[in-house]
Amino acid sequence: MAQQLVRVDDRQFSLYISEAEIEKEVTRIAGELKRDLAGRDPIFMGILNGAFMFASDLFRKLDFPCQITFLKLASYSGTGSTGTVKQLIGINRELRNRVVVVLEDIVDTGITLETILMQLSGYQPAEVRVATFLHKPEATIRKIRLDYVGREIPNDFVVGYGLDYNEYGRNLREIYQVVD
Ligand code: 5GP
Repeated sequence: MAQQLVRVDDRQFSLYISEAEIEKEVTRIAGELKRDLAGRDPIFMGILNGAFMFASDLFRKLDFPCQITFLKLASYSGTGSTGTVKQLIGINRELRNRVVVVLEDIVDTGITLETILMQLSGYQPAEVRVATFLHKPEATIRKIRLDYVGREIPNDFVVGYGLDYNEYGRNLREIYQVVD
C-alpha cells in the first residue's frame, strides 16, 4: 500500500493512525468511562490546545450526565531558579468532592501532566482520573497512573487530531508520524 504523506510546514509526515482507528479507540474509552463513572457526575477537563479534538469526539459519545470545561497551561517567567513556571488557568468551577477526568492529547515525559495533577489536587476533588489519547511509554519519566489510553506509540513526533507542528496540522483528521 502506498504511504500516505502530508507536508506540515517544512516537514513530511506519513499516515500512522487512520480516522477509523481513532474513532474505534475513542468509542472504547467512552465505554470504559461509562462503566466506571456513570452516576458519579464527573467533570471532564480538556487541556488546551492539543486535546480539543479528542475531548470533543469523546464527550459527544458520553450518554450519561456529565460536564466539561477546558483549561490551559500558561507559561510565565517565574522568579525562582527554575525559570519558566506553568500555571493551570481557567478553573472556574467548584471541584471539591467532584470526580475530575483530565483529557490530554498525548503524554510524553509526563511532566505536563504531573504539573496539572499537582495543581488540581489543591482544589480537593474527590478523585482525579486521566484519559489521554496517546502515550509514549518509552519517553515517560514521571510515574503517573493513566486510567484511559487510546494508543501507546513509539517515541517519534506525531501531528494531527489536535496535535501540532509549529501550530500547523491540528486540523488533520488522522495522526501522522514524522518521516525524517
Ligand atoms: P510532556 O510534558 O508529557 O513531555 O509533554 C506533553 C506535551 O508535549 C503535549 O501536551 C504536547 O503538547 C507535546 N508533545 C509531546 N509529544 C508530542 C508529539 O509527538 N507531537 C506533538 N505535536 N506534540 C507533542
